[in-house]
Amino acid sequence: MHDPNDFPTPDDADRITQETIEKYARYVNPAALNLLKLGGFDKVEWRGNGATITDLHGKSYIDCLGGYGVFALGHAHPEIVAAVQAQAATLPLSSKTFLNKPLADLCERLAQLAPGDLQYTFVSNSGTEAIEAALKFARAATKRTNFVAAHGAYHGKTFGALSASGRDVYKTPFAPLVPGFSHVPFGDFDALTGAVDANTAAVILEPVQGESGIRIPPRGYISHAREVCDKHGALLILDEVQTGIGRTGKMFACDYCKVAPDILVLAKALGGGVMPIGATMGTPAVWEAMFKNNPFLHTSTFGGSELACVAALETLKIVERDNLCAESERKGATLLAGLRDVQERYPDLLTDTRGVGLMIGVEFADADVGKLAIGALVKHGVVAAYTLNNAKIMRFEPPLVITDAQVQTVIAAFDAAVCETAELLAELLA
Ligand code: PLP
Repeated sequence: MHDPNDFPTPDDADRITQETIEKYARYVNPAALNLLKLGGFDKVEWRGNGATITDLHGKSYIDCLGGYGVFALGHAHPEIVAAVQAQAATLPLSSKTFLNKPLADLCERLAQLAPGDLQYTFVSNSGTEAIEAALKFARAATKRTNFVAAHGAYHGKTFGALSASGRDVYKTPFAPLVPGFSHVPFGDFDALTGAVDANTAAVILEPVQGESGIRIPPRGYISHAREVCDKHGALLILDEVQTGIGRTGKMFACDYCKVAPDILVLAKALGGGVMPIGATMGTPAVWEAMFKNNPFLHTSTFGGSELACVAALETLKIVERDNLCAESERKGATLLAGLRDVQERYPDLLTDTRGVGLMIGVEFADADVGKLAIGALVKHGVVAAYTLNNAKIMRFEPPLVITDAQVQTVIAAFDAAVCETAELLAELLA
């Protein structure tokens, strides 16, 4: 527990909060500030500990957004913080001239854990960068230009990743995007079969779509994608930026279907909730095509820093040591059942509850009602949010280290929030 004396006095907390609000309005993003105010999130975050965030006024919240999957190990995990502090005091960033031992150790560990013959890793700083690398590697390895992606997909917001993403509202203002991308309905076997041909460099998919609303494809879909790619000599890129590192109850979601991609993309939780990191893994064939003639064909100044690599190595160690994949599966089943129970009691408001491990979504019949419920939930001390490409879905992606008692608190808070939302709607419609 944090020492309560670490917090400012209530008057100072009010003043700092007000100043921060004003700076957001003047210097950060006034429109985002308005949204935060509407949702009841206009508080200054101050401390993180396990599954909780505490604001400047000392009020704690269970974090069920979990940084869109970043905080698998919770906030400020002491072992990750210690590893990063120790590294920061010796050599935080790579000179880029000598050999980087944490980078070599991390790439070795990832190769041991990843399926198939994913042997090499390029380390960057974020999910979208790791996707950019994946797309470039696929073009280099196949000498082809085209990509097949899925409707509703979210792969990031740089040009290549955005081109692969499947929601126009984020794409249209920036057209023309990268050419060569086509999109098929996620989970539709025939559409995928028909879309891949001899010009396809790669099919890029999330094993479970996160931002489109926690969508789990029908059984066999990812294996089917593998077969279609093999038939046409295309590569399979799996984007496990959100699903990776235990989120779904396995180290990688593709472990469920026993499919090995040619390129596997990781980020978010890999940094242990402390360091930003992205990782693009590939087979020897991909690496040879990409780097044999020019080892600097794709580089990153900050990518692969000692700081990020020690955080990732420590993360992988803790996930395995503390059985966090199994914990994710077990606690996810409890949370899913509890949320589904609430859903069944409010069939007019809530239409579905689905998920795998601690990647869970509850679907509202109406997106605006969902937003009201998110606001009600935060008053009960639980932070959640809707998914970026589908505002009807309230997502629950708490840290894998959430306690059993906290899972029960989340279920009770959701129950209360939905009940209050239903009452509010009844009043409004009366
Ligand atoms: N891919 C997936 C599946 C994601 O969920 C995200 C982010 O939410 C990204 C890529 C982009 O990652 P980042 O925001 O770190 O660039």
